[in-house]
Amino acid sequence: MLDCAIVGGGPAGLTAGLYATRGGLKEVVMYEKGMPGGQITQSSEIENYPGVFREGLTGMELMEPWPAQCMHFGLKHEMKEVKQVRKVGDHFEVDLGNETVEAKTVIVCTGSTPRRAGFKGEDEYFGKGVSTCATCDGFFYKGKEVAVLGGGDTALEEALYLANICSKVYVIHRRDSFRAAPPTVERAMKNEKIEFILNASIEEAFGDAMGLQGVKIVFNDGREPMELHVPGLFVFVGNDVNNQVLRQDDGSWLCDLNEQGEVIVDLNMHSSVPGLYAAGDLRIQAPKQVVCAASDGAIAGMQALHYIQEHEL
Ligand code: FAD
Ligand code: NAP
Repeated sequence: MLDCAIVGGGPAGLTAGLYATRGGLKEVVMYEKGMPGGQITQSSEIENYPGVFREGLTGMELMEPWPAQCMHFGLKHEMKEVKQVRKVGDHFEVDLGNETVEAKTVIVCTGSTPRRAGFKGEDEYFGKGVSTCATCDGFFYKGKEVAVLGGGDTALEEALYLANICSKVYVIHRRDSFRAAPPTVERAMKNEKIEFILNASIEEAFGDAMGLQGVKIVFNDGREPMELHVPGLFVFVGNDVNNQVLRQDDGSWLCDLNEQGEVIVDLNMHSSVPGLYAAGDLRIQAPKQVVCAASDGAIAGMQALHYIQEHEL
């Protein structure tokens, strides 16, 4: 039986593994369905992770050294998707689809996934002009005009990134004020390649078999609708938490969640189920920052260790 199963290998999962193994747990496996690193590897520029600061540092570069360090003390990584976590007696079952692994403790660090905005044509042109990753797809639009939807940190930071590649970036936002941090808003406002289209929503994306050709924009301040002809649209309208592994066969949840589906934890990352922890973007009131996800992971890793020692498991 594993001492600890970690689900997800982003900043929270990796750090949970580092602290659990360095603290003394022997059998700790981190299940990550892709490469370790998490969603930050999609970011084009990080400037708020303490101690690591240089112009143009990408998320991929930030995360590149983490797995080796986190595995140095014995954390094992398996590239597998966890389907479900169950509690059976005083331990857990981690369902991997074709096998089930038993664990004394589980730390769920499955993070979040970009949300779809819900306009007509969004799904039809997804991957054919509509994207949620500027680092991945921005280069396809080198020298061309693109649009960004959203007014949060991700939208404005990625608009700034796209402005380095594209001839023009239209930022479409449904209000005239922003969730993004004020310095980021200021930088975007000053960028000559960025044009804001405010109090505006996308009604429809249109195109043909070759892909997206543009979007129809409607305004909430009485202006006439307009068409914007762009081959690329980047949608950054927030994220949904990846809580599916906690869903049980009868439709209930393994532990308590809030209305947004985030795991309710205390300051020690304890969920409502003893031995089950949640860390990073998945938990309630997560600041959704790499440094905070790593901190959560560290706390959860230490708590799993205490739990096993205290219960003499
Ligand atoms: P994630 O990073 O989401 O990692 C979760 C991992 O779990 C993923 O690798 C996923 O593949 C895996 N997983 C999910 N379900 C399963 C399953 N069932 N089985 C196995 N594996 C699974 N934060 C900052 O501090 N600074 C920034 O500048 C910044 N910029 C950002 C830019 C972008 C474009 C984005 C999208 C986010 C940005 N963030 C930034 C936020 C930051 O990336 C997140 O807060 C952080 O990555 C959360 O870490 P996490 O470990 O909780 O989850
Ligand atoms: P977010 O902060 O939730 O912002 C989402 C944006 O999309 C908001 O402007 C929202 O508008 C808009 N929106 C939501 N649904 C929409 C819809 N259906 N149609 C049109 N617009 C819609 O999401 P985020 O920018 O991805 O950031 C997520 C978290 O990660 C945040 O906590 C953020 O601070 C963090 N993050 C931090 C950094 C950094 O520290 N540098 C970088 C990236 C992300 P309203 O404002 O009107 O609601």
